[in-house]
Amino acid sequence: MTILTNTRLDLTVDAGDGALLSVPAEGTLRIVDLYGNQAVDTLLYDAADIENRYSAFDTIREQGAIYLTTGSRLLSGRLDELAVITGDTCGRHDTIGGACSQESNVIRYGEHTRHQHACRQTFLQYGASAGIGQRHLGHNINFFMNVPVDSAGNLRFEDGLSAPGKYVELRASRDILVLISNCPQLNNPCNGWDPTPVQLLGEW
Ligand SMILES: [Zn+2]
Repeated sequence: MTILTNTRLDLTVDAGDGALLSVPAEGTLRIVDLYGNQAVDTLLYDAADIENRYSAFDTIREQGAIYLTTGSRLLSGRLDELAVITGDTCGRHDTIGGACSQESNVIRYGEHTRHQHACRQTFLQYGASAGIGQRHLGHNINFFMNVPVDSAGNLRFEDGLSAPGKYVELRASRDILVLISNCPQLNNPCNGWDPTPVQLLGEW
């Protein structure tokens, strides 16, 4: 059997920029951490109904584990499988730490950070063309971000486990929208204190 590939995507997303991708069922998307230790904040939506969107809570409960890696089924709040992680050379991805916002930056890091660009603005900017607004932004995936939970149950933002060229690969389980913010955060080690570009490679 010959499988015809119609689309090849090769897109570099600058530090602090974002993307909205429409990935059809069975399409694969590889996210490459070009320079290492770069958090890629990601949300998934059912392309047919953006109300049917990625749910960190349901994904964690159903897989019985808090980190994402190869084999993780990325579920919606209706327990529909939106995508599966089919490849992962980093081995650890977070879905608890959330996305940075101007509001959370002020609370965590002080008033002087209020006007720094944040993932939430990127999500709204790139989501707008698909009708994705504030009420559609839930807990996201932070690919390549290391947020260990210690034995006492505490969360920490730690220096990343990723390195240049590490990648994670998703396979869409239905037609989905993938909303990406290549995190601009400067106030914690999630981007190694120096946000860098990532590469998006798609085939469908
Ligand atoms: Zn961020």
